[in-house]
Amino acid sequence: MSRVLRPQRLLDQAVADAARLVAPSGIGLDSPGVRARMVSRLRRGGGFDEVVLSAMDRVPRHRFVDSALAPQAYEDTALPIGHGQTISKPSVVARMLSLLRQGQQARHLGHLGRVLEIGTGCGYQAALLACLATDVTSVERIQALHEGAKLKLQSLRSELSWRRSPVLWHADGQGVPVWGGPFDSIVSAAGGEEIPQAWLQLLAPGGRLVAPTQHGGSGQLLTIVDHEVIAGRSEWRRTTQEGVLFVPLKSGVI
Ligand code: SAH
Repeated sequence: MSRVLRPQRLLDQAVADAARLVAPSGIGLDSPGVRARMVSRLRRGGGFDEVVLSAMDRVPRHRFVDSALAPQAYEDTALPIGHGQTISKPSVVARMLSLLRQGQQARHLGHLGRVLEIGTGCGYQAALLACLATDVTSVERIQALHEGAKLKLQSLRSELSWRRSPVLWHADGQGVPVWGGPFDSIVSAAGGEEIPQAWLQLLAPGGRLVAPTQHGGSGQLLTIVDHEVIAGRSEWRRTTQEGVLFVPLKSGVI
């Protein structure tokens, strides 16, 4: 049975969660060398965008997970972030962001432009996006995760010297968008049966969307949608990539 938390309880819980996320001292996770080794392993694996890897070199992933899990933060593994959700493994995050960058390189933007992220979770990917984009809007349906991410991103703002901090919304990312648009890049960290129509409408001409989608019995596949304009008409060109395993895209807020 799920527990219904009142807003103040949710906020208290988020503050308590965030307080536990302070990195444990003495295990060297603050050392840039630990992150650099993770990035070197990713680079050896090949195929990732160098600008994405340099953002991963800057953002301290251990600050986004519970202190008990911090020693695993630089392994290539997904980790629980509470409320039945997970932070994706670094190679999957690197892959999604590299695909977004590839889409924007065709437009010679040099950055991801205006980005919409569905599924803020702990805020790690939003922090990376803030290093790669002109501005980031991120939506999360679970209030405790939304509040926790807000605190973590605020605490990192001066260290990471973003142009702009991500703007976070507590909302159902499939619902009526109150966060504006259009966006040059859209990325979802949760997978549904279909790509919601609202996301396609929010994608700017020339923009790229990357999201996991369910493909019947074959499970989730990473899907790219490019908004192309051909002879004055919009077309949304889909390509599917490798199999992935993301948490489900759910409706409503809690
Ligand atoms: N990018 C995140 C990954 C979080 S996992 C990170 O770096 O931590 C995916 C998140 O999507 C979960 O937190 C889940 O609650 C959220 N989610 C699922 N369906 C959603 C929806 N309809 N709208 C907004 N967020 C959603």
